[in-house]
Amino acid sequence: MRKPIIAGNWKMNKSVAESISLAKELKENLRNVEGREVVVCPPFTSLFPVAEELRGTKITLGAQNLFAAESGAYTGEISPSMLKEIGVLYCIIGHSERRRYFKEDNSLVNQKAKFALNLEMKPIICIGETLEQREKNLTFSVIKQQISGVLDGLSTSELANIVIAYEPIWAIGTGKTATPEQAEEVHSFIRKEVFALYEEEMASSLRIQYGGSVKPGNVASLMQKEDIDGALVGGAALSADSFSKIVQY
Ligand code: PEP
Repeated sequence: MRKPIIAGNWKMNKSVAESISLAKELKENLRNVEGREVVVCPPFTSLFPVAEELRGTKITLGAQNLFAAESGAYTGEISPSMLKEIGVLYCIIGHSERRRYFKEDNSLVNQKAKFALNLEMKPIICIGETLEQREKNLTFSVIKQQISGVLDGLSTSELANIVIAYEPIWAIGTGKTATPEQAEEVHSFIRKEVFALYEEEMASSLRIQYGGSVKPGNVASLMQKEDIDGALVGGAALSADSFSKIVQY
């Protein structure tokens, strides 16, 4: 049985004070939630205060990025061990916004995932096609290439600590959600690809989140699909009310 995982990506939003207040509300709203893993990913400046606020709760902390080195002359970057030290367990890696604005590619995403895994942090690895690729019927070939690139060299035991987030780029922040059928088609393809690379048992326990305009009104129909094991939520994660409703779909 795969435990559903709902993660909120706050992106470059929320001051420290706003982050603490959102964390407080979530703590209250979600105190009785069972059967779900809930992750919040605030901006770097808010990670430590949110970690303090969520201490002792079932809400887990995630970062939005990390750098693939332990320490050193990498101005402006944050290492996995710095994140680990303040209680970060998950890290979003290879979000389409990082691929677009910072030119991250599958090979860098793969390196970052390896660094995170070495420190027992769990990568949430994002993949997904653009609208142009979908319209040219390239979705499956793009996903196949992304899967083999981002998982390159990862062992079966490392795979157990990874979450894949399928985020069609055309659905992120646009209000256009993939239909549950469109999402399921790609999720089951991802699982088959992982099955081809690893053992069936590993592929069937891999959690695959859907991301792209997930809202309280569409989450339940997505989560009904067999291969959809959670959601990576952007805009709707910025309000305690909508994120809590999504978690409790
Ligand atoms: C995201 O950025 O990961 C995302 C899914 O955003 P939104 O929910 O706003 O589409």
